[in-house]
Amino acid sequence: MQFNALHTWLPAVAEPLLIAGPCGAETHEQVMQTAALLAATGRVSLFRAGVWKPRTRPNAFEGKGEEALRWLQDVKRTHGLKITVEVANAQHTELALKYGVDVLWIGARTTVNPFSVQEIADALQGVNIPVMVKNPIHADLQLWIGAIERIYNTGIHNIAAIHRGFYPDSKSRYRNKPLWQLPIELRTLFPDLPIICDPSHISGNRELIPQVAQKALDLGMNGLMIESHVNPAEALSDAQQQLTPDQLNELVSKLIIRSSHTSNHELIDKLAELRKIIDELDDELMNVLKKRIQIIEQIGTYKKEHNITIFQLQRWQEILRTRGQWADKLGLSRQHVEKICQLLHEESIRVQNSLMNNG
Ligand code: PEP
Ligand code: MN
Repeated sequence: MQFNALHTWLPAVAEPLLIAGPCGAETHEQVMQTAALLAATGRVSLFRAGVWKPRTRPNAFEGKGEEALRWLQDVKRTHGLKITVEVANAQHTELALKYGVDVLWIGARTTVNPFSVQEIADALQGVNIPVMVKNPIHADLQLWIGAIERIYNTGIHNIAAIHRGFYPDSKSRYRNKPLWQLPIELRTLFPDLPIICDPSHISGNRELIPQVAQKALDLGMNGLMIESHVNPAEALSDAQQQLTPDQLNELVSKLIIRSSHTSNHELIDKLAELRKIIDELDDELMNVLKKRIQIIEQIGTYKKEHNITIFQLQRWQEILRTRGQWADKLGLSRQHVEKICQLLHEESIRVQNSLMNNG
């Protein structure tokens, strides 16, 4: 897949590229007031608002549908802002096209379902409208890519991915865990696919949004989608995470825009020097890993000869405990060291299992 650069279909009126607007379009007044204040900041390149809201339980605010599309037309007419809405099926898509929506987005709950994504793709046959695809709710990169492919296969190459975080499988300070490694992997696989970060749905509360937004920019993401409501306290959905246009303006003005390249030769040389040391350290690490595996194999051979199980709970607990202590002593992150131990242990089990059971 080859994607068109973001600036060719969504030029940024300011840096960073900002998509903003309320979670949901609730009333004509709320939409117009929010849009007026956002337009006045001069920072917003695309106005967002959900007109069909996917809700976990029925009887919550499910959006105003077609009526709200007219309000968004008003935003476009009055403030010259481009508009985007979430579509989850063919009917949404047809209505959005009918009302002149500029960019469509596919929500996290829709990306998980290939039937729905294909239905949207089919409704877009022969239409050239940009589409932004949010990551699926769970951390399945292939499913995210699959949804992007379904849109791409209709001939649409104006596509962006939106990183909105992943349902937390354990307690987390985030509403949706960012798992930054996933968008990084997506970037590695498709370097020209624009990726926009949605810090609002990652954070789930106003306090975390600035740090998530800054990190997204520091990882080279191409823009931000942030929810903003004229009166967040009264919002009918996602009240905790919405910012007033003023708060949004202040937050964005404090973000630091860093460049991915430098032409400062002193800096380039210094980086090269330090990276050389990293190369040497990684080489050392590999050699240690190799030695470690050789010992693991010896242990496996003894276990096999003496009919002892591969997994030894006490030893594993001891490893976790002692390595945790060593990490503390060295000022390393315990979590990081624990993850590495898990990986080492997994590999040890794999190696010993193959030694014991595959001849
Ligand atoms: C939204 O953007 O308001 C929304 C419903 O997001 P998500 O699909 O990421 O949950
Ligand atoms: Mn929302």
